Amino acid sequence: MEKNDVVVVGAGISGLSFAHYAAKAKKKVLVLEHDKRIGGSFHSASGGLAQAGFWIELGAHTCYNSYRNLIGIMEDCGISGDISPRAKVPFKLWSGGKVKSFVSQINFLELIFSLPRLIVRSKEGETVRSYYGNILGQGNFKKVFSALFSAVPSQNADDFPADALFKKRERRKEVLKHYTMKNGLQAITDAIAAQRGINIKSGVEILELKQVGADFLISTSNGDFLTSKLAICTSVVSAPKLLETSFPAISEKLNNIKYQKIESFGVIIAKTASGLKPFAGLVPLHDDFFSAVSRDTVPHEKFRGFTFHFKPDLLSETQKIEKICDVLGIAQEQIVEQYQRENIVPSLRLGHYQLISELDALLQGEKIFLSGNYFAGLAIEDCVSRSKAEVARMLS
Ligand SMILES: Cc1cc2nc3c(=O)[nH]c(=O)nc-3n(C[C@H](O)[C@H](O)[C@H](O)COP(=O)(O)OP(=O)(O)OC[C@H]3O[C@@H](n4cnc5c(N)ncnc54)[C@H](O)[C@@H]3O)c2cc1C
Repeated sequence: MEKNDVVVVGAGISGLSFAHYAAKAKKKVLVLEHDKRIGGSFHSASGGLAQAGFWIELGAHTCYNSYRNLIGIMEDCGISGDISPRAKVPFKLWSGGKVKSFVSQINFLELIFSLPRLIVRSKEGETVRSYYGNILGQGNFKKVFSALFSAVPSQNADDFPADALFKKRERRKEVLKHYTMKNGLQAITDAIAAQRGINIKSGVEILELKQVGADFLISTSNGDFLTSKLAICTSVVSAPKLLETSFPAISEKLNNIKYQKIESFGVIIAKTASGLKPFAGLVPLHDDFFSAVSRDTVPHEKFRGFTFHFKPDLLSETQKIEKICDVLGIAQEQIVEQYQRENIVPSLRLGHYQLISELDALLQGEKIFLSGNYFAGLAIEDCVSRSKAEVARMLS
């Protein structure tokens, strides 16, 4: 039976960054991924247009120079030279069947009266609704900002802890403030996976996971694996299921975290097909999607691409295509390529960080390690930072 120093379950950025730090510490790492492709929410789809250098992001689309740990990994992998700028195109609103500017929808009188509260108001113990409603005005929040903030985690963000949505992080000022990669963000997860010391097996179903003496036995559709250190880096839905038998208390704690499914639908069209002016993202005020993310941030001579992040379980495939055609002002026949993807994202609530510290207390002294987007927050850097901290615990 194959024995590795570390087995990581899940090959999204959380699992792959865990694998990276473990391999850097000279551990022999095996990553087991359920899907056929690796990357999880890093999904740059190009299909038949790869030759033309065209891709669209079905998931994560933007990184920042404050993502210091991620940049460090990219430097280790030798791909920081592929960091590419994003064109300065605006974010717009979609309301009443029309594209509108944010400014046109804001009540400035209410904003001016509310903003001074910013000085005295702390985010601690506040939800997005209570904090931003107070400093931007309840009317403005309801009309514009609730939709705008909900576009960030692709779910209604009103009840998120206010300090979980936007975080201040120290920047690497010599790196572009916000960026993508030459061939899309999936180039990052692909590069991590290609490193020496990391062995990836994809399309693997975990059948059973149990402790055998000091080791873990992982029975899968591709055979059994033995390891002394196990990292679970899946979504918040899978992790408690995997831990149910061997770590029931941890599993139970994880079951308290709410989550949401996002149904993403990406289309590629000819550059001339839609009359909409270039935009980075479109945020609807009242509609069946949370946002439409555009590839206009990396203009291409022949194509444009858009990914609509739909509210879950509302529209059929046909209805989604109709919605997309309606917004873009195109006929269905003008879609050159289309892609669909589902992601699970956590829905953080007040008290989340208390729950995480209780979870971490349960993990102390165990040889099981947990990473994912349900710890500090959903942002890529939150995932990488969690993996880094867990590898440090593993090595200590
Ligand atoms: C639409 C969207 C847009 C986003 N945009 C941005 C952005 O622009 N910038 C930013 O900073 N963040 C963004 N985020 C957030 C960020 O991309 C994600 O939080 C992060 O990529 C999640 O990584 P992860 O590895 O924790 O989870 P995932 O990417 O979900 O990866 C988990 C992996 O585990 C695998 N898995 C699950 N169960 C099992 C199992 N039982 N056995 C084996 N494998 C399993 C899955 O197949 C998957 O590959 C976005 C998220 C989404 C969904």
